[in-house]
Amino acid sequence: MPQEAAILLIEDEPEIRRFLRTTLPAHGFRFHEAVTGRDGLAEAKARNPDLILLDLGLPDVEGNEVIRQIREWTTTPIIVLSARDQEHAKVAALDLGADDYVTKPFGLNELLARIRTALRHASRTSESVESVFTLGDLKVDLGRRQVFVSEKEIHLTPIEYKLLTTLIRYAGKVLTHRQLLKEVWGPLHMEEGHYLRVYMRQLRNKLEKNPAHPRYLLTELGVGYRLRTE
Ligand code: CA
Repeated sequence: MPQEAAILLIEDEPEIRRFLRTTLPAHGFRFHEAVTGRDGLAEAKARNPDLILLDLGLPDVEGNEVIRQIREWTTTPIIVLSARDQEHAKVAALDLGADDYVTKPFGLNELLARIRTALRHASRTSESVESVFTLGDLKVDLGRRQVFVSEKEIHLTPIEYKLLTTLIRYAGKVLTHRQLLKEVWGPLHMEEGHYLRVYMRQLRNKLEKNPAHPRYLLTELGVGYRLRTE
């Protein structure tokens, strides 16, 4: 993780701003804040932060509009702070290019873990992706296109392999159903959620000790899937 990464919080709730204003610097981050979407966009441009925490319910501009405008000029990670009843907006935010989300009320440890994962992911360029991915007893040799569970080679179909490697590419990040369908099956199949359910079940059956309680291929209810990283 880069030292003293700068985080910009765009949030109109004073309690959350106050909470993060003290806790984030205490955990080694530089901290900036904005109360409205318009100020948030201006601050983002002025400071070019390493990561943005964005409330979806802002007083002036839709949170998703803020994401759209930020994504016009930077890939800096965006973690959305959403209310429990903003399921649809949360998925739209991820589709627009947000990297992750936390649901309010959130715990500090959860938020810090998401921040670290997003920063780690941002610092990793495509060339430096490890050619062998390991997670518990799962090992994927991306160069040789071989998959092992507890040293035993597992045969995956081409679609299963593509689904797995897509999740590995975004390991630790939540991918929406639409993002996964687009990456694995292509942009004409983004509504075919049943493809994804079928293949995810197959993949879990092959890779998970207990497919009903997956340890690696995690479900983000109503949103998508996430590959655990540690
Ligand atoms: Ca709000």
